[in-house]
Amino acid sequence: MIKEAPVLTIDGPSGSGKGTISTTVAGKLGWHYLDSGAIYRVLGYLAKTRNIAFDDVGGLVNLSQNLDLTFTAQGISLDGKPVGDEIRTEDAGKRASLVSPIPEVRKTLLQWQRARARPPGLVADGRDMGTVVFPNAICKIFLTASAQARADRRFKQLRDKGFDVNIAQLFKEISERDERDANRKVSPLKPAHDAVVLDTTELDIAEVISRVMGEINSRL
Ligand code: C5P
Repeated sequence: MIKEAPVLTIDGPSGSGKGTISTTVAGKLGWHYLDSGAIYRVLGYLAKTRNIAFDDVGGLVNLSQNLDLTFTAQGISLDGKPVGDEIRTEDAGKRASLVSPIPEVRKTLLQWQRARARPPGLVADGRDMGTVVFPNAICKIFLTASAQARADRRFKQLRDKGFDVNIAQLFKEISERDERDANRKVSPLKPAHDAVVLDTTELDIAEVISRVMGEINSRL
């Protein structure tokens, strides 16, 4: 019998450091990595380029059913072609959060996400990894940080990618996005009842990685 692959889930609001922590921890463990937010970002991006409105549920479900998405060490590919930083802007984040509340879209993507749990293991990052997608994960982390710290981190991230960003505007946009993600009916942003909640406001990246590695290693 094939042993089920262990899963570490890392959820939290935007700018909480999920991406950086998840990729580093996945690298240290030698595990696969699922960036679930990228799926919703790609969907939002495709909806825009194909002129599918956010209230066109049928159109969006159809889009999600026909997504040919691959995650590789080099990044994400759509229909075999690499997806660039166009999905990383805050505007793309907003579009992602407008398509992500649709229950049928989330249902379509559920099995696909679960199938990423392959040996030797998976680090899954998102909003509902510990609550809905991988409820049996062996270790669940929920990262938080103050709204200001998260906006500052996102600002640096986007600026380093060469985007022109305004910190006050970004603060407003990510607050609105988190509010929408936390208050939606399906798969809202919240810690699983068995998650370890880590406030990273005063912690640097190395400290957060060490805490997460401590949690996962104690369960392996
Ligand atoms: O994590 P990231 O900022 O890339 O996520 C973009 C958006 O995708 C989130 O604001 C949220 O609306 C949606 N998302 C989600 N469920 C996930 C991951 C992301 O609804 N598991």
